[in-house]
Amino acid sequence: MTKFTDLGLSPEVLKAIAETGYDTPTAIQEQAIPVALTGLDVLGIAQTGTGKTAAFTLPMIERLAAGRSRARMPRAIVLAPTRELADQVSEAFEKYAKYHKLNWALLIGGVSMADQVSKLDKGVDVLIATPGRLLDLFERSKVMLNGVQIMVVDEADRMLDMGFIPDIERIFKLTPPTRQTLFFSATMAPEITRITQAFLKNPVRIEVSRPATTAENIRQFVYRVPGNNALNAAKAKRIALRAIISTLEIKNGIVFCNRKTDVDIVAKSLSVHGFNAAPIHGDLDQALRMKTLDSFRKGDLTLLVASDVAARGLDIPDVGHVFNFDVPHHADDYVHRIGRTGRAGRSGEAYLLLSGADEKNYDKVLKLTKKEPETLSLEVDFSALSEDDTRQSSRDRKPRRGEKEKPAKAALKAAPVAESPPVDNDSVLVSIEDAPKRSRRRSKTEKPADTLEPVTQVEAENYGWHVPAFLLRSVNQK
Ligand code: AMP
Repeated sequence: MTKFTDLGLSPEVLKAIAETGYDTPTAIQEQAIPVALTGLDVLGIAQTGTGKTAAFTLPMIERLAAGRSRARMPRAIVLAPTRELADQVSEAFEKYAKYHKLNWALLIGGVSMADQVSKLDKGVDVLIATPGRLLDLFERSKVMLNGVQIMVVDEADRMLDMGFIPDIERIFKLTPPTRQTLFFSATMAPEITRITQAFLKNPVRIEVSRPATTAENIRQFVYRVPGNNALNAAKAKRIALRAIISTLEIKNGIVFCNRKTDVDIVAKSLSVHGFNAAPIHGDLDQALRMKTLDSFRKGDLTLLVASDVAARGLDIPDVGHVFNFDVPHHADDYVHRIGRTGRAGRSGEAYLLLSGADEKNYDKVLKLTKKEPETLSLEVDFSALSEDDTRQSSRDRKPRRGEKEKPAKAALKAAPVAESPPVDNDSVLVSIEDAPKRSRRRSKTEKPADTLEPVTQVEAENYGWHVPAFLLRSVNQK
């Protein structure tokens, strides 16, 4: 078996690697490091979890070891699609370059521009940046790119998703054609192929297989929940999720949801029920996201509830459990999600909650992974799903001919609740619908759930959520 010592790395780098506890390179590291050390371009087709960050960081450190940085002229740039990913690359430099006199700077949104500029003025060897922020500083003449010897593009497929390809193309053109390029992408969409053909010079193509399609060390389970509409299926899923988690011994786990609103609701619901959980998604403040991630990495937070975009590329080692609150729209994302567990040969478990609405996406997942998850047999008490929840909501019903698309909106405006201050619907849903029985409060005028009149579905303005009117009223009466 190949060891790190076989790859042509210096004693300083090997010492830093040994201190991280790794002794065996991953497939992408084994193949990419010797090539990158020679100065050739690399086209790495690998996804997160394969160890690709070290695959480009280690040879960069070696190749930059000789030479000095100059003010505003980085010798290398690493382009990452998200701030979190850029942050992780910087952490990799911190780990692996500790015995080298190299310096690096992060150029990401949400961090003080003045600090970043003052670092650049002093001279940095490696600039780790998101494309927009880099171009922004370039346009203000705070950074020059004509001294770049190595350019890394990390997660190019994510860049494509986020519309960064024109920025990447511009940055390529601003760097000298003599540079070495290390380019990584999980997939090779036509647009990505075009970029690599235009800007890479005879790259050595290195492809590593998807971890999830081969990972036998991940046990996959599926649990089908009752419910015939989006609202009660979501509630049934929250009940099932709690029941499943309660049966497990969890060191740390990630709960994935398709939608940001669900990320918030599920995280709140879990917290209300006494689980140590917090949300992470793109709408949350950057500082808060970093803080949440940090406490998850340290083990202070047990359950991270995340959206796919927020979680993609996050360096979270050794996750024991993955929970799929729903089936992602892209089967690829399922592979990414469950690839969060069972890393580096460890064992892991992935749970999937399935409702009728998920079936179509589930078929796509089965086609891709060619592996049917085991059906989880677990007695779950769904009695909290009241009769009202099983009625078909107006959200799921197609409007009849002549009926307005959103009749409920008008009803909201006319009803007394329309004048109410904005209500946090997430907490309405969690605190009333989903809270433990002991903490439920009912106003004197409110009837018990089983004797309620048919529920009027209303859409709270700006929230996009359909909340039964009685829920809004009961909150306002508190
Ligand atoms: P990446 O694909 O770069 O996001 O890395 C995925 C995870 O694997 C990170 O948590 C790394 O710290 C870890 N890792 C990287 N290289 C190795 C290795 N050779 N052995 C074990 N774990 C590794």
